[in-house]
Amino acid sequence: MASERFVVRVSKDYLVFCSGHFISYESDKCECLHGHNYRAAVAVEAPLDNNHYVFDFIALKKIARSLTDELDHKMMLPQSNDLIRVSTGERQVTVNFKDREWQFPKEDCLMLPIANTTAELLARYLGQRILKELETRHNFHPSVLSVEVEESFGQAATYTWTK
Ligand SMILES: [Zn+2]
Repeated sequence: MASERFVVRVSKDYLVFCSGHFISYESDKCECLHGHNYRAAVAVEAPLDNNHYVFDFIALKKIARSLTDELDHKMMLPQSNDLIRVSTGERQVTVNFKDREWQFPKEDCLMLPIANTTAELLARYLGQRILKELETRHNFHPSVLSVEVEESFGQAATYTWTK
């Protein structure tokens, strides 16, 4: 049987966030500090409403932008990584991995409730925040929501949530 589905997707230049990170991998290794010009894209799927659209593009761009702006120009740090320990002092954030230690000004850091700052988990973090905004502020309940985080040209991870 034929069926129809509608998706709206936003991927704008202002959904770029230039941020620092490093990830742990292979259970005992850690990358050197580096950054990316990440770019987010957000897509939502739902039946058409009375206006014949899935969801207001302007509102979707606004939500996505406010969240990517929070990440922009920050050192992104994981709050629940078993190997990367993050402790916040009065003015500094100290990060340890084995015998390595980094220190950052507190205002330059963003602690994220994720296990690792991979593109996959950043996409899920953004996706869950966007979903909450859509549901609580707009009373909009998409059937599918996906967020793509591109960390360099042609290299991206996608998180997809389905109702
Ligand atoms: Zn990286």
